[in-house]
Amino acid sequence: MRHVVVIGAGPAGLAAARAARMRGARVTLLDSSDRLGGQYWRHLPDARPAENEGALHHEWSAFQRLRAGLLEDGDCRILMNAHVWSLESRHDAAGIVNVVLGPPDGVGRERIALTPDAVVLATGAHDRMLPFPGWDLPGVVTGGAAQAFAKGERLAIGRRVVVAGAGPFLLPVASSLARTNAKVVGVFEANRLRRVAAGWLPRPWQLLRTPAKIAELAGYVGGQVRFGIPYRTGRAVVSAHGIDRVEAVTVAVVDPEWRPIAGTEKRIAVDAVCISHGFTPRLELAVAAGCRLISAPSGERFVEVDSDQHTSVRGVYAAGELTGIGGADLALVEGGIAGAAAAGGGMSASERRTASRKRAVYAGFAQRIDAAHSIRPGWTSWLDDDTIICRCESVRFGALREARAATGSRSLRSLKLTTRAGLGMCQGRVCGRTVEQLLSTDDTAVTDRRPIAMPIRLGELATNAGSARSHDPNECLPQGSGREEP
Ligand SMILES: Cc1cc2nc3c(=O)[nH]c(=O)nc-3n(C[C@H](O)[C@H](O)[C@H](O)COP(=O)(O)OP(=O)(O)OC[C@H]3O[C@@H](n4cnc5c(N)ncnc54)[C@H](O)[C@@H]3O)c2cc1C
Repeated sequence: MRHVVVIGAGPAGLAAARAARMRGARVTLLDSSDRLGGQYWRHLPDARPAENEGALHHEWSAFQRLRAGLLEDGDCRILMNAHVWSLESRHDAAGIVNVVLGPPDGVGRERIALTPDAVVLATGAHDRMLPFPGWDLPGVVTGGAAQAFAKGERLAIGRRVVVAGAGPFLLPVASSLARTNAKVVGVFEANRLRRVAAGWLPRPWQLLRTPAKIAELAGYVGGQVRFGIPYRTGRAVVSAHGIDRVEAVTVAVVDPEWRPIAGTEKRIAVDAVCISHGFTPRLELAVAAGCRLISAPSGERFVEVDSDQHTSVRGVYAAGELTGIGGADLALVEGGIAGAAAAGGGMSASERRTASRKRAVYAGFAQRIDAAHSIRPGWTSWLDDDTIICRCESVRFGALREARAATGSRSLRSLKLTTRAGLGMCQGRVCGRTVEQLLSTDDTAVTDRRPIAMPIRLGELATNAGSARSHDPNECLPQGSGREEP
């Protein structure tokens, strides 16, 4: 029986696990979180069930079916709180998956290593926030953090909130905030209406092939109307103000390249700001495995895959946001294709046709998002020399500029080592792409090149190193790891 390890239990990973099981493979599904569902189906823990969990989720019943099927399946081993901290390549198979089991800040965590026949990478994305003066004040959060609080805890991030950035994700963030009793003062999309329309409107008949997505979007627009939330295009939060926490933001009209237009600034009183400028794929494990990357028109890099979702590395497949930011439906389809291929069973001709057609349709949706909402270069004019760029290491924009001028270096690695930008606790997850873009280095290096993908203590690295290598997937689970409670 083939052994498939799926890393990530969001829509892509869940679909991959199910598809691999349907083709007879033994599956180990790993996720660093304590709940299945990934970012899209982030939910309250079973111990504190919500009365109507589905209210904040789309396709909630589809998730419940997927989850129940996997939990009841004895040949699908689910390890939560399972942090894959490295993926070592092996010339003869998919690689060695190194995992530490236990809560992120827990003691006594245990290391295991898996040596599967195939790996499906489904590690998703982080949400991206571009810096601006004051973005490091308490109360300025990413849209994803606001969603996590709303969906995972039913808490609003503030009482009077501005939502700003770019992309359709701003709408569910505003909806969730309104449903958790925050007053959303406005949603500000940086792209001008002309660009948004030019991205979304061509070949409108193709949109009709994604009725669920259209219904989802219509639902968000309905929510804006119902909760009386103003939506403005061509406007950006260019600074935040406050002493101990955010008290106000400045919103300015921006030109098509996102440069603020002088004289249009407006100050708005808030106690929280949610910012989202799209998503950055979590590439660390893919890069560690040696997978080839490709650049999207927006400049963002993704894992290159073939029609089976196979990467350039033998036995390693990728699905979901890692291969392009396309939303949960695309992640589900790609996960299904990857899981089937990883199991070695493949798909029947008709299954393949259906899956490929769906993938093309949802990928078209993703291309529209890219065309309508991707980041424009003028955002750098929001910065002043004092603006913090790397929050972990307190590196300011002025220091980055000076280091570049003084050293004349065009190497990302050497400039990172000189300034320490991107080398702090978050390992560049917050500022990595920003640092890459501000330094506009010559090399193709990415800040995602990290041999250790997740924080792991030196003590954990030092102990169990021998036994960790040969963990048998059929053995009992080590203590502290967990199969999610049915
Ligand atoms: C913060 C955030 C909030 C979002 N909220 C919404 C929303 O409300 N509505 C909406 O339509 N879309 C939302 N999106 C986008 C949506 O979540 C994605 O389109 C969809 O979830 C993609 O599915 P995926 O399976 O590719 O990734 P994800 O759902 O992100 O799943 C990836 C999983 O991989 C796990 N993982 C990553 N690295 C490791 C590792 N090294 N070891 C172990 N596990 C690992 C993560 O814990 C995660 O559970 C959000 C995205 C983000 C980043």
